Amino acid sequence: MADLTQNLDKPVRNALTENHENERKLTILEKIYLPEIFKGLWYTLKQMFKPKVTMMYPEEKWDPPAIFRGRPVLVEDNGKERCVACGLCARACPPLAISMQAEETEDEKERYPAFFEINMLRCIYCGFCEEVCPEEAIVMSKDYDLVYHSRAEAIYGKDKLLVDKEDLKERLDFLKEYKNRQFGQFWKFRQDNNIHSVRDRDEEWDTGLSLVDLLESKKETD
Ligand code: SF4
Ligand code: SF4
Repeated sequence: MADLTQNLDKPVRNALTENHENERKLTILEKIYLPEIFKGLWYTLKQMFKPKVTMMYPEEKWDPPAIFRGRPVLVEDNGKERCVACGLCARACPPLAISMQAEETEDEKERYPAFFEINMLRCIYCGFCEEVCPEEAIVMSKDYDLVYHSRAEAIYGKDKLLVDKEDLKERLDFLKEYKNRQFGQFWKFRQDNNIHSVRDRDEEWDTGLSLVDLLESKKETD
């Protein structure tokens, strides 16, 4: 039987110990570490006199820029949701956080979501729902301050999701400017390449009319 104690007082040679000849030789100053310690202390001292960027959250709240992706919300337009319950956002949502039920309506959009829910415990703030929505009816808001006391509270229905379009103006303007742009690119692009939704198929681009309103106004002028 092998003697298991025979190598106890001999250092084991491994790849590291065998290659020690190739290690960089330290200078005397590097070996005593003190200059490096003082360098670190000097850096810390310099930082102490720089302007402070820390915010005293939650007393001080951060106002994110329009590019920020906070919780997704439904756009409310003239007191009603823009959503036509097409289900694309639910289909595109990677963690299956969205659920809805479509119903018919007398309005010109014909369908609306009888209920629309986002499970905020599942949402990963990816923005895919906003990306695929043909009506610009779901957008990423600035809201990042979410608190729930139970799992049920984290399921947001239309009562919590609907936000007036005026309160989402910054994000909507941002989308109009940047949607479908190549990642990381900021060159000037053709606005007609940016046509994304029925809402945006507006020949004059800046009339602010939906396709239906645009056709109506054309009928009147013809
Ligand atoms: S942001 Fe992403 S994860 Fe959240 S609801 Fe939209 S698609 Fe789903
Ligand atoms: S993709 Fe847009 S219109 Fe379609 S169900 Fe989602 S929010 Fe509504």
